[in-house]
Amino acid sequence: MRESLRFAGKILSATVSRVADRWLVSITVDTQDDSHLPQAENEPQDENQVKGESRRSQNQGAVGVDLGISALATLSTGEVIPGPKPHKALLGHLQRLSRGLSRKQKGSANRKKAKARLAKLHARITNIRSDALHQLTTDLTRRFHTIGIEDLNVRGMIKNRRLARSVADMGFFEFRRQLTYKSAMRGGQVIVADRWYPSSKTCSGCGHKLDELPLSVRDWTCPACGAVHDRDVNAAINLRNLAVSSTVTACREEGAGLGRKTKAKPASAKQEVSFVHVCA
Ligand SMILES: [Zn+2]
Repeated sequence: MRESLRFAGKILSATVSRVADRWLVSITVDTQDDSHLPQAENEPQDENQVKGESRRSQNQGAVGVDLGISALATLSTGEVIPGPKPHKALLGHLQRLSRGLSRKQKGSANRKKAKARLAKLHARITNIRSDALHQLTTDLTRRFHTIGIEDLNVRGMIKNRRLARSVADMGFFEFRRQLTYKSAMRGGQVIVADRWYPSSKTCSGCGHKLDELPLSVRDWTCPACGAVHDRDVNAAINLRNLAVSSTVTACREEGAGLGRKTKAKPASAKQEVSFVHVCA
């Protein structure tokens, strides 16, 4: 392969790797060139920036994101992002290939071929998942300045075998990681509600809190105010409101700061930190 380097600078290292039947090379460049980074939307406009106009309409306001089982994500705007569920879609294929592999004789050429086919399918599933997550996190950080999300107890969810596959499929940790770094690049912020915040059980209209809301209940009516809620949209709205209010109390003025950074704590069983974010 011959390809010109995309970034000007000193090449520090190159790592060659192989995933299934594909060879990859990753090159580390020490560069001053930051053209690959998205512009922070709040930064003063440069005169020769032609794209300035379209930028002004982006990265504003707040959104709450409820990560789900049936959908990849539900936004407080009511949008539902279905998510690819690659594992589910290709599961039959995967099972067939795995069965085929186990029937092949050890050390045989056919076993080698079957193994390669299986590895290729696994790589494909990974790529589909990764692409969907990147699209979602890019879209969210591009459109919204303040993003409220839940601190999901993923480990607890994975223990529940019925949920395990879809949770693993959607990569919640990766979602949060991408959202955090992409937000920081664009001058936005991610507000993580603490794990015990009852985003699903609280009425986003009047604040009434239900004692219990089983996972199977998708729609419910608030006994206090009579509002009818879609479970996920209601949770997303609560996360949005929480993000906005915690920004107001922490920074006094919502949306006025430039380049605020958010430090999201990785979910851990021991640490419970609400709204860890730093105002500039
Ligand atoms: Zn209510």
